[in-house]
Amino acid sequence: MKQHMILSEYKRKRRFGATPEPRGEVHASKGNLLFVVQKHKARRLHYDFRLELGGVLKSWAVPKGPSLDPAEKRLAMHVEDHPLEYAVFEGQIPKGNYGAGSVIVWDAGTYHPSKTPSKKDEDTLKKQYEAGRMKFFLNGKKLKGFFSLFRIASREGDGKDTWLLVKSDDAFASSEDILSKNTSVLSSKRL
Ligand code: MN
Repeated sequence: MKQHMILSEYKRKRRFGATPEPRGEVHASKGNLLFVVQKHKARRLHYDFRLELGGVLKSWAVPKGPSLDPAEKRLAMHVEDHPLEYAVFEGQIPKGNYGAGSVIVWDAGTYHPSKTPSKKDEDTLKKQYEAGRMKFFLNGKKLKGFFSLFRIASREGDGKDTWLLVKSDDAFASSEDILSKNTSVLSSKRL
């Protein structure tokens, strides 16, 4: 993708000044790759699952939210890349703006293709992302352990593919209702 195209959809959808969301830029990775899950009470409640890759946050809207139960396959709709600054965004998107509603940072941490981070992680994850088949270890406050994220259907042109997010069957798998934990990991906000 051409440099000026990066984040262009993100910027096109928003009127900065009318929304408190960050304008954002593309950054080089600082080493530890971030993941963040935002709980977003918009017209419909959903969770935004984001992975740092290539200096932006690759993003999926997960209507039912992540689960720790490997039997639960959660639909994840691929949406536009978000700037890294978005990882700490929470608050109110005012009425009349794209995604109007409340946002909290429901979970955040780092992610790696294997349990032990390595310098090749970003390359490995880029290949997995392009192939539409990712597997990674989440090191968050609420979400831990291996998860897979894979594309099940492609849509021509707009990149809005359908993926599934599924917990791997490891020591962190559980039937606990993780979504009942509804406090931000950055503040005391609840949503
Ligand atoms: Mn959202």
